[in-house]
Amino acid sequence: MMPFLVAICFISVLASVSFCVQTNRALVATQAEIKAKNTEIVELNRKIESLCLENQALRERMETLLRNDVILKALMSGSVYRAPAQAATEKMVVISFDDLTTSRVTKIIAIANDKQAPLLLFPTGDALRKQPGVFLSAIQSGHVIGNHTNHHDWLGKLDADRARKTLADWDDSASRLLNGYQTIFFRPPAMSGWADKKQRPEFERLVNASGKIPVLWSLETYYDLYAPNGPHRRGPTPTIENEIDYIVKSAKAGDIILFHDTAADVAALPEIIDGLRSRGFVIVSIKTMLGLTS
Ligand SMILES: [Zn+2]
Repeated sequence: MMPFLVAICFISVLASVSFCVQTNRALVATQAEIKAKNTEIVELNRKIESLCLENQALRERMETLLRNDVILKALMSGSVYRAPAQAATEKMVVISFDDLTTSRVTKIIAIANDKQAPLLLFPTGDALRKQPGVFLSAIQSGHVIGNHTNHHDWLGKLDADRARKTLADWDDSASRLLNGYQTIFFRPPAMSGWADKKQRPEFERLVNASGKIPVLWSLETYYDLYAPNGPHRRGPTPTIENEIDYIVKSAKAGDIILFHDTAADVAALPEIIDGLRSRGFVIVSIKTMLGLTS
């Protein structure tokens, strides 16, 4: 009987020991699991923290985009002739140059760079293809380039399809020659399509639908001074001094001033910039004037 009881006791002890070992193993495994989970939690907390920072940055970016979108939406429903009221109170003016098919473009950009005056340039597609390097350097210097149609086409004389094509052809040349450059600015050659009040809304819608803002002007040298029927033409061809005097004295806060790459406009440019500044005007980029800088 005794050996049987001893055997029973021995088996019981063995079973207890085995149970303890197993329990211990399970505990060790659980501890390892807890440790792994803790590491996972620390890693997740780190990720949450980084996502919070990313979220904050995205929220700020979204707010900027929404703010600009409101401005863009307002701008994309018509044309700009001069600055909005806020820019006008800050005595901002924009200097713009059209056509730019001559070799004087280099001189215009050199003067603007020297005077630290940002420009709004409206070359035709032909002008872009003629001197792409000059326009590329203009962009690199911070000047803004806008679409002025492919061949200086008068929109008022084109049907909608051809009008859309001349804009698209300019965009294609800019993208191909100026490292993918895209613009939201358009200026109609000779105001064609804009001078006629019946045509204007139709062309504004067409240009707006292409993602562009038509930017006209409120003061200019060519029509005002040099055209034979110009409103300020007095007698013989004006001198450079007449031009400087006319622009500097006529400028008003918020003006978008139009020049061309004529010999006279290029010669007058340095003193016009100085004269405007001495009257307290700030020469700004079109983006600054329209509140699109951020
Ligand atoms: Zn033009």
